[in-house]
Amino acid sequence: MIMNRRSFMLLAGTAIFVHPALAADTAEIIYFGGPIITIDDANPRAEAVAVKGGRIVAVGPAAEVMKLKGADTKLVDLAGKTMVPGFVDAHGHIIIGGIQALSANLLPPPDGPGANITTIQNTLREWWEANKEVVEKVNLIIGFGYDQSQLKELRHPDRNDLDAVSKDIPVVIVHQSGHLGALNSKALELINYTADTPDPVGGVIQRQPGGKEPNGVLEETAFLVAAPKILKDVGPNGLKVFAEAGAELWSSFGYTTVQEGRAIPSLCKVMEAVGAEGKFKVDVVAYPDALVDRDYIKENAGTTYKNRYRLGGAKLSIDGSPQGFTAWRDRPYYAPVGNYPPGYVGYSAAPPEKFIETMEWAFANNIQTITHANGEAASDLLIAAIANATAKHGKGDRRHVLIHGQFEREDQVDSFVKLGVIPSLFPMHTYYWGDWHREHTVGPGLADNISPTGWYLKRGAIFTSHHDAPVAFPNSMRILDATVTRRSRSGDIIGPAQRVSVDAGLKALTLWAAYHHFEENDKGSIEKGKLADLVILSDDPTAVDPETLDQLEIVETIKEGQSIYVRGKKKADLIRKGNKDLLNTAMYELFKQIYVQFEVERLPQSYQTEDVRAQAAANYEGCAATLMLPRLFGLPPEGAEVASGD
Ligand SMILES: [Zn+2]
Ligand SMILES: [Zn+2]
Repeated sequence: MIMNRRSFMLLAGTAIFVHPALAADTAEIIYFGGPIITIDDANPRAEAVAVKGGRIVAVGPAAEVMKLKGADTKLVDLAGKTMVPGFVDAHGHIIIGGIQALSANLLPPPDGPGANITTIQNTLREWWEANKEVVEKVNLIIGFGYDQSQLKELRHPDRNDLDAVSKDIPVVIVHQSGHLGALNSKALELINYTADTPDPVGGVIQRQPGGKEPNGVLEETAFLVAAPKILKDVGPNGLKVFAEAGAELWSSFGYTTVQEGRAIPSLCKVMEAVGAEGKFKVDVVAYPDALVDRDYIKENAGTTYKNRYRLGGAKLSIDGSPQGFTAWRDRPYYAPVGNYPPGYVGYSAAPPEKFIETMEWAFANNIQTITHANGEAASDLLIAAIANATAKHGKGDRRHVLIHGQFEREDQVDSFVKLGVIPSLFPMHTYYWGDWHREHTVGPGLADNISPTGWYLKRGAIFTSHHDAPVAFPNSMRILDATVTRRSRSGDIIGPAQRVSVDAGLKALTLWAAYHHFEENDKGSIEKGKLADLVILSDDPTAVDPETLDQLEIVETIKEGQSIYVRGKKKADLIRKGNKDLLNTAMYELFKQIYVQFEVERLPQSYQTEDVRAQAAANYEGCAATLMLPRLFGLPPEGAEVASGD
């Protein structure tokens, strides 16, 4: 008998017996046996969730949901663990995050295994073994974070130590400072450093004892010139591997929707190619830079995913970073460290008219923007740009996003709320740089109001909370902890009044971030009809001591009913092994140094001074790193297709 859906529903409605295996509403999976935090205010807690065809078909009391159990339904017992909705990345950069993911952790104990040269060699071998396929593709074994002062041997590992790991594949290990590195013979060959190569200005090629042959250890510019040459050999295929690895790293922290928060067309093509190969397990949203290629954004922006990838809108960057004193403020910095003139307030990254005009373009073309603005003056400009565009094109449901918003005045919060701007804030700063902001950037009073989450909630507005990886590691639980406790590294609380509840902290990672992406109908809460994007946590975040929120573990990440990360799987956990916060610092520093090198080397020799280097370093901020990737990895010129397949 063939029934159309309507006649079947009529039969079901009149309670005619239907064999469970034939029932249209039999679930494929039912989760039960632990707290389920739905983030649905109408129904905040549930006992069970049923999934079918990648969507949630029932959520509620176990007795109700179990009615959907059929002969083939897979029952998953949470065994007391807690389920929450999949996390939606409010701002990060997955491609550089992938480089972060695909590197061995060589930090000294307790943050990593780097106690002596043997443990460093073993870690590199273990990492290679676990990532064989990747190493083959990128032809590089790279580790970050060793510190010779913490090694038993009290010296840098040299080419012989690294040749013992591999003679055929380039091996590069980066010092924790990001300013030095050690290479094996193959890597030295690749960059053509020989006994005849003179030391570059500002750097040293260390030599074998009693000879001129390089020993593998490169200092400062000798290393910074070498690193891009090695990465260039990794090439565009390497970028594809990094994009995939970044998405995978994010998923290991419970993210089921991730962001490339400052792309350019050639990188978008890389991500499209990864999607076309079926290698994204999470949804990826890219925001190319509006000052680089508007036409590309206009042609490609959309709300539907193709192969788990879509172009969400345009990225703008008004100023720099608060910890580097390049955020553009409305008043002088408190006590900036460095050679700053009296009254120094930072600066805008481009002429203000440019932002006003770009925002008008975005409104006219219905393009969503996400705008990096840290200082008060940067926020003033963003408010002016959005107010001006609103006056010309109407308010509409545009959901423009403020990224970072570190130093805001309370009147600016009012303006953003009035204009319907969604703040994607960075409370993680309270942990990493809270003490620094108190002592140097804004001073003790204003430091309390960095990333003013409390001011937004007080006004009944929403906010989201991000990691901006690779600036910080994409650790969702550290975000939650920082958003809730605002505890700094020294243990102080940075702005008790801005603290929010665990419930609000979770919403900032889920429903509110889904809203920011125009995806709240599909994502962000565990509700019937939404995608089965789910996370299983080791404990109930609303029940544990808030000070321990950062210790919660992601046990499993589920995208549309499919398990995409399970804690304990070797590869995924190798990526996460050890304390990656410090590792991240090493990579961030290296990229900053490479950026400085790029900036300086295009100047005539006589202009390549220490002051110019210092200025370039000050101009660098995390969001900018993506822009140098094509140059770093030798991407084909704009418009050229990135080869599909391997
Ligand atoms: Zn940024
Ligand atoms: Zn960013």
